[in-house]
Amino acid sequence: MATDYRAMIPALSLRNQAFINGKYVPAAAGKTFACISPIDGRELTQIAACDGEDVNRAVAAARAVFEKGSWSACHPGKRKKIMLKLADLMLRHKDELALLETLDMGKPIAASSGGDIPGAIQAIQWYAEAADKVYDEVAPYRPDSVSLITREPIGVVAAVVPWNYPLMMASWKLGPALATGNSVILKPAEQSPLTALRLAGLAAEAGLPEGVLQVLPGFGETAGQALGRHMDVDMVAFTGSTAVGKYFLRYAGESNMKHVSLETGGKTPNIVFADAGNLDHIAKVSADGVFYNAGQSCNAPTRILVEDSIKDEFVALVAKHAKPWTPADPLDPATTMGAVVDSDQMNRVLGYIETGRTEGASVALGGQQVRRETGGSYIAPTIFTDVRNDMKIAQEEIFGPVVVAVSFKDEADAVRIANDSIYGLQANLWTRDVSRAHRLARKLKAGTVVVNNVWGSDITNPFGGYKQSGIGRDKSLHAMDKYCQVKNTYIQL
Ligand code: NAD
Repeated sequence: MATDYRAMIPALSLRNQAFINGKYVPAAAGKTFACISPIDGRELTQIAACDGEDVNRAVAAARAVFEKGSWSACHPGKRKKIMLKLADLMLRHKDELALLETLDMGKPIAASSGGDIPGAIQAIQWYAEAADKVYDEVAPYRPDSVSLITREPIGVVAAVVPWNYPLMMASWKLGPALATGNSVILKPAEQSPLTALRLAGLAAEAGLPEGVLQVLPGFGETAGQALGRHMDVDMVAFTGSTAVGKYFLRYAGESNMKHVSLETGGKTPNIVFADAGNLDHIAKVSADGVFYNAGQSCNAPTRILVEDSIKDEFVALVAKHAKPWTPADPLDPATTMGAVVDSDQMNRVLGYIETGRTEGASVALGGQQVRRETGGSYIAPTIFTDVRNDMKIAQEEIFGPVVVAVSFKDEADAVRIANDSIYGLQANLWTRDVSRAHRLARKLKAGTVVVNNVWGSDITNPFGGYKQSGIGRDKSLHAMDKYCQVKNTYIQL
């Protein structure tokens, strides 16, 4: 029977306090902030607003348990068992977690229950399984010696995450960081703290020792900055905007030179050649890719680059396939597009739409706020055509349901335009010519190149960016290395 999410709301108990050293506690200064649902603008609860003192307490607890070794130095098989238990508990509470995600940031319940929460559970399971399967190395050195290359957990890791896939982004950090033995302090985005706070209780129930996973809700300039500048935090694992990613590099440089990994913005080119084949299918997959999560995906294919000869036909087909993405009630299981995360983000996106008009681009579809009467934050799927790649709407990350179409003449022109961006997270290309696919995959400056699709992401594949899209990789076994120090132990025989 289908889950009746609306019927679950009255019985929901929202965790709104910080989780420090195994307990839910108010912020040290007693401050709170409002958690507003973008579905209808209503306040859901008041959340603890953590600051420097809360960060000090959490770091002290994280350091203490790390030095004690009950997680950092335990048998990896024990970590696996506890993390698998956590994944089981997440599975048992999957409907509650999906509902929290939808209420908190406005995405459709079908997406949170079918995408975000299963994705988060899979990440925890996958890294739990990896915990006791990754081996260290012996160097092929002199026969009268043994040279060991071993990985050790880094120590206290601050995971600072965004609001677009709140629990999934957190799990991409928690999975490898916990599996390798670190203590983690998770700071969710102020727009979406609810699932992270719920997760903390589940982790304690699963048997994670106190201090191994703590959750500090709060603002970026306070809680986030205090973590970034703390002298006893060994690493920041960040996902968010490029601008804030640069702050973390600065904080590290001005404090203890902590390791910083960054998963930041994107402006994915989606290159369609005239030889690509079934344009109707390509337009459908492209529309689905860009409007999923109301366009709030770092790798959304937001820059359509289309060969001159098929431009008008292709843009018309994308507009046709944008129709099913009409915003509706996020709690209705049939809804495909919900709200954007809050009214600030809505106004930011509407500002970009205005800029696009002023820059001389034409609106082929949408371009306005909708469902005003709900009190929530909704934007119609929007397509800009007649766009030049030097326009602001083609260069900057809009992070809403907005796609721009730029035309190109030939292969060289397509590559030049695709790479003319400060970002390099993902690039998609559609062609039937296998040589062209390989040739371009090598020339495109992006961490992921997807041929004949827009979706290529999976927990088994590394994900991260070239240029200002980041430093380091999430997902896959590659992600485990960034949470480890590599030690060389040389023994003279
Ligand atoms: P954001 O940079 O505004 O915030 C991200 C986190 O940083 C939040 O927890 C926030 O509180 C914190 N923060 C904000 N200002 C801070 C400061 N001055 N000091 C310390 N911490 C601070 O990003 P957002 O708006 O929450 O998320 C959207 C962004 O995330 C987009 O740019 C998107 O591309 C990016 N993103 C990237 C990936 C990826 O894997 N590359 C994945 C998802 C999202």
